[in-house]
Amino acid sequence: MRAIVIGGGVGGSTAALALRRIGADVTVYEAYEDPAGEVGAWISLAANGLRALDALGCLAAVRAAGVEVARQRMWSAGGMLIGDVARGRRESDTLHGVSMMRGRLVAALRTAAAEAGARIVTGARLAGVSETERGVLATFEGGTADTADVLVAADGIWSTVRGLLDPAAPVPQYAGLYSVSGVSRVEGVEPGVFNMTFARNGAFLHLRAGAEVWWSAQVNSPATPVRQGVDDATRLRELAGLFRDEVTPSAVLTGTTALQPLTLMHVVDPVRTWHSGRVVLIGDAAHPVGAGQGASMAIEDALALAAALQNQDSVPSALQRYDTDRRPRITKVLGTAEDNRNAKKAGPVRRRLQAGLMRIFVPVFYEKATAWLYAYEPAKLSK
Ligand SMILES: Cc1cc2nc3c(=O)[nH]c(=O)nc-3n(C[C@H](O)[C@H](O)[C@H](O)COP(=O)(O)OP(=O)(O)OC[C@H]3O[C@@H](n4cnc5c(N)ncnc54)[C@H](O)[C@@H]3O)c2cc1C
Repeated sequence: MRAIVIGGGVGGSTAALALRRIGADVTVYEAYEDPAGEVGAWISLAANGLRALDALGCLAAVRAAGVEVARQRMWSAGGMLIGDVARGRRESDTLHGVSMMRGRLVAALRTAAAEAGARIVTGARLAGVSETERGVLATFEGGTADTADVLVAADGIWSTVRGLLDPAAPVPQYAGLYSVSGVSRVEGVEPGVFNMTFARNGAFLHLRAGAEVWWSAQVNSPATPVRQGVDDATRLRELAGLFRDEVTPSAVLTGTTALQPLTLMHVVDPVRTWHSGRVVLIGDAAHPVGAGQGASMAIEDALALAAALQNQDSVPSALQRYDTDRRPRITKVLGTAEDNRNAKKAGPVRRRLQAGLMRIFVPVFYEKATAWLYAYEPAKLSK
């Protein structure tokens, strides 16, 4: 089977690796010349995503690219501890959550895919797709083209293929939150702990990674913020003002040595059409889930798709199988993501109520309430 993968990010690189594992001839087309390197904010992988990487034989490489984070502590705006739980896993899981720079994750996955025999073509932006009963034709900006038996679209939240599959498909909408992340040199942050503060103006996340503290401010902002023409010092001053009442986030911001550009956070209404006969969406192209699970879900998708292609008689039936298998889980994650976003946008009264309820319920119910997410066993590929 010949497969084209569009997008060499988290989902596309993992799909290329998984498709090579089932013996497909794989070419990845990535729009940017160099999507890897130290680009993007830091992100976290949970036990479910890590288990899928283990099944593909690249867990060790990915772990080596990041830091292990065993616990998650949740704090109120006033600095009260409102929850202390296992991070990205059940207490019983031996795999710990891992956080890393997104670029390093992509680099590790792309290396694994290339070592497994996938071709990776960079600087190739997909422009069009057409399908016949026997194959699919992909055309690229600049006029080049390629054909395959199946086209896997892992082209992210702004997916071109989503709109080609269904011109009425939903498009990303601003979620009322923006994110800025950075690196600080502040002292006194315990290693191995992911800290989340439900702050007055959003959420503030931080964790220790060696000598550095990685942070991410997710700011509640119904109006779209100004993105262009704001230098780092001004942006940092602005954030310092927004988080001035939260003691630890303020200290972390004060020690900042590097800043990533502001990212608007977007949501997409549920995408009804994930596939046609030979074209299929995975990862953010199909369902940008957020909830700290976007990368893990893209990885799970890649494995589920490869398993379906290995086990079904035809490409169209495999794509239908993938849709049927993945839809219920993704729908549940999308619900969780919406709850998380709303928690970050709560006003003062709801925020206090939330903090009080979390103090009571997190120790008793958190493990049970999240077990379905972390306990997921990835699809198996036969040798
Ligand atoms: C600020 C922020 C923080 C996040 N934190 C987390 C986190 O902690 N944990 C987590 O799991 N997730 C997190 N996410 C989400 C996570 O990054 C995504 O869910 C994940 O990267 C999705 O993978 P993907 O392969 O679907 O898309 P992407 O990784 O976005 O990859 C898409 C790729 O397709 C390429 N492409 C696009 N169009 C074309 C085209 N026409 N032709 C060819 N190539 C194309 C792009 O250049 C890109 O390389 C975060 C996201 C943001 C914005």
